[in-house]
Amino acid sequence: MKAYISRNILSDAIDVLKQYGFEVTVNTENKKLTQQELIEACQHADVLLNVGHADLDKHFLESCKHLKSIALASVGYDHVDVETATALGIPVSNTPDVLSGATADVAFLLMLAVSRKAFYRANEVREGKWKDFEFMQDLGIELNGKTLGIYGLGRIGLELAKKAKAAYNMNIIYYNRSRNPEAEELVEAKYVNFDELLTQSDVISAHTNLSLETQYRFNKDAFKRMKKSAIFINTARGKVHHEQDLLEALQQGEIWGAGLDVTDPEPISPNNPLLQLPNVCVLPHIGSATVETRTQMAIMAANNLIAVKYSNPMMQIVNKEVYS
Ligand code: NAP
Repeated sequence: MKAYISRNILSDAIDVLKQYGFEVTVNTENKKLTQQELIEACQHADVLLNVGHADLDKHFLESCKHLKSIALASVGYDHVDVETATALGIPVSNTPDVLSGATADVAFLLMLAVSRKAFYRANEVREGKWKDFEFMQDLGIELNGKTLGIYGLGRIGLELAKKAKAAYNMNIIYYNRSRNPEAEELVEAKYVNFDELLTQSDVISAHTNLSLETQYRFNKDAFKRMKKSAIFINTARGKVHHEQDLLEALQQGEIWGAGLDVTDPEPISPNNPLLQLPNVCVLPHIGSATVETRTQMAIMAANNLIAVKYSNPMMQIVNKEVYS
């Protein structure tokens, strides 16, 4: 069986595939392929291990309908037309759980960094702008005992809630479409409606998957409902917030600060005015970017392809109806 890997990954996963008899081709060029290049590369493959967020849309899938499966090295699959994959009989898998801790770490890091304007001030030091001790300059806000509102309390949201509870005894409230009894028990999370989440939270952290329902959920209206002292964190997907509305909310003092690991588009333009604001931290989508987590993600994706080789269902299947 021939596997194509769309970006370089840790060699452990490539070795596992080879041990199981796969002929492996890796895009080692360290650049994102255009869709046409990816389509062409997949013509010689039986299965695809997709690294990154290339658009696996209807056109891609119909051009690659010979693929026996697609293993994503990501938990999010908003970049895949799952309905078309299912219609074409292509199983798609993702990598849940193994990246929850690392991604929650980044949300926590952003929450703390924004609350103390840490990145902005570190830049000032680098630029030689640190002149004197200023008692009243650039004061931050503390997180201890504050209310953390989680929009989408699933795997990653729960990891963040645990960290926030342990570090700062934060009071956890959340909004999902359905309740999360595990989180209610583990971190005493309180279920609220979306409006209560907006109005009661000192920090709001977004952890939903991107869908038509969650797209631009944090827009002008939502930011207006939030506390003026609130911090908005997004490590989910850039389109969960409306970037221009976020900028205006920050400029007009409707919210206090924002920390983003995801932007719309990615990469963010270096000229984006968000990057000049003292209470904003932007990271380049590094949620799962640790050696440990990326290794586990790559191996999980490889194991899903190995299952396909032995005619077994993929373990972390996204479209299980493909098997029925
Ligand atoms: P998850 O366990 O499925 O959690 C998603 C949560 O969102 C669920 O609790 C779900 O609850 C809730 N949700 C879904 N639709 C909703 C809606 N319309 N309104 C309110 N809540 C909604 O997923 P996860 O593993 O935590 O991952 C979450 C997302 O994080 C991924 O989809 C991915 O986009 C992103 N991510 C980013 C990075 C990064 O590098 N920054 C890394 C990993 C993941 P209900 O179904 O009950 O609504």
